[in-house]
Amino acid sequence: MGAYDGRSPDRPACSGYRMQPYNASYCMTQDLIAWDINLMRMSYTYGDGLVYQVISHEWSHAVQNRMPYRHLARQIELQADCMGAAALAGASRDGTLVWEKGDSQEIAATLRGLSGDTPWTNPADHGSAAERIGAFNTGLRSGVWACLA
Ligand SMILES: [Zn+2]
Repeated sequence: MGAYDGRSPDRPACSGYRMQPYNASYCMTQDLIAWDINLMRMSYTYGDGLVYQVISHEWSHAVQNRMPYRHLARQIELQADCMGAAALAGASRDGTLVWEKGDSQEIAATLRGLSGDTPWTNPADHGSAAERIGAFNTGLRSGVWACLA
């Protein structure tokens, strides 16, 4: 599916529910990820880092859907932040992605700046900005094994 316009009445649906504005999600029933392009544009206020974090986070939900239950963390959203960061670190190590100086700080600033402003940054289900930054840094520094239960 990919990008959609969250302001459009014709935005795509997952299991009969329209994708939310300013959100990104993994649709389990269709096994795909989708994001509102307006969430990405909004995050650019802080730099380009969050775009990579959003996509890797949703991709991690698809991975979680395939993982043995014993490896799933109780806080599934923070685990997705951790696993997404581990994937970005791996992509940086193998040269697929250039992790620029300041990207981690950009992502932290975006998570702090947008906390509570979008469904994707709702502390009630995704964790506080500090928890999300902590999970992200764990995955970035210690790799995917540090993210698993
Ligand atoms: Zn999530």
